[in-house]
Amino acid sequence: MSKRALITGITGQDGSYLAEFLLARDYEVHGLVRRIALHDPERHLSRLVHIRDRLVLHAGSLESSASLHQVVDLVRPDECYHLAAHSFVNTSFEDDLPTLGADINGTHYLLAALNERAPACRFYFAGTSEMFGHADESPQRETSRFLPRSTYGINKLAGYHLTRNYRERFGMHASSGVLYNHESPRRGHEFVTRRIAAGVAQILAGRQERLALGNLDARRDWGHARDYVRAMWLMLQQETPDDYVVATGESHTVREFAQLAFAVAGLDHREHVFVDPELCRRAEDQPLVGDPRKARERLGWHHQVGFAQLVREMVTAECDALGLTLPLATPAAAQVVEQGEE
Ligand code: NAP
Repeated sequence: MSKRALITGITGQDGSYLAEFLLARDYEVHGLVRRIALHDPERHLSRLVHIRDRLVLHAGSLESSASLHQVVDLVRPDECYHLAAHSFVNTSFEDDLPTLGADINGTHYLLAALNERAPACRFYFAGTSEMFGHADESPQRETSRFLPRSTYGINKLAGYHLTRNYRERFGMHASSGVLYNHESPRRGHEFVTRRIAAGVAQILAGRQERLALGNLDARRDWGHARDYVRAMWLMLQQETPDDYVVATGESHTVREFAQLAFAVAGLDHREHVFVDPELCRRAEDQPLVGDPRKARERLGWHHQVGFAQLVREMVTAECDALGLTLPLATPAAAQVVEQGEE
């Protein structure tokens, strides 16, 4: 009999890749979506169009304990992947406070519902490197100190501790992944990688000339979402639940991302990119780079998509969407791409 999985946040980047991944393994895949998504699927289910008829979608939201209980009761999942959250790190602490409560409560409602109605269900919580925030060491590993510095990081840290508590107090098979940034052509438009890839395509199409970015020296550990959902699944296949850092272990600057993205389209980023101080976030004292050793040794997980391949895939997808063919690279651009691939 096929296993039943419930994914919250199935309409998002990771949810859509995870749904594909589980369908390919014969899972019966259920997703929790906000009611509006069922009324306006074209707009809200765009990442799921190609698999929509193979999914069972249920209306619900993190704000409603009743809806979460109802869905858990109905689905009785074998595995639950809790990905739903406001996933953007805002610069304004105050503006973000209302979302903090909703996400933390939602995680608590969901864990309580599973513990009550489907206690054997294996649970995955989507933690983040932002829980480390002002990290005091780099690379960070599972034992590094959590010092979040955004409401997003605080929110996720609360979810991580709730997950740990349900594991320790109630014996639930509940694990958290501490995932570093992962991107793809399905990344939200507000994230810098998607903004760069989309900007390159717009410039190539002659629709704009310049692209505003924040701190070009900010470093990130960027992987591909397709690789990261595999790590989530692997965590739930282990005999014992645990927490894992999932990262590439490599970091690149926003400048490197931009340089490579423009080079893929045969362009020189220096002619188009400018820094807008309004977009600058405070730089980390210690770069957020993960040490994925535990995931490698215990889960056998390793990222497969490298930095250059990720950038190329994102730029190509944006150009395809506009019907653009990537021009042949100039020698200078080809050299940048080649170096990125090393
Ligand atoms: P995403 O594309 O922004 O997707 C977020 C999902 O959460 C969407 O499906 C969204 O539904 C849903 N959601 C938000 N608030 C909700 C609510 N109140 N009730 C029900 N659903 C709600 O994010 P992602 O990149 O796939 O990331 C998935 C998870 O991993 C998130 O929890 C994120 O914080 C975490 N994470 C991501 C990264 C990364 O680099 N991508 C790194 C570490 C951790 P709508 O479509 O209706 O808005």
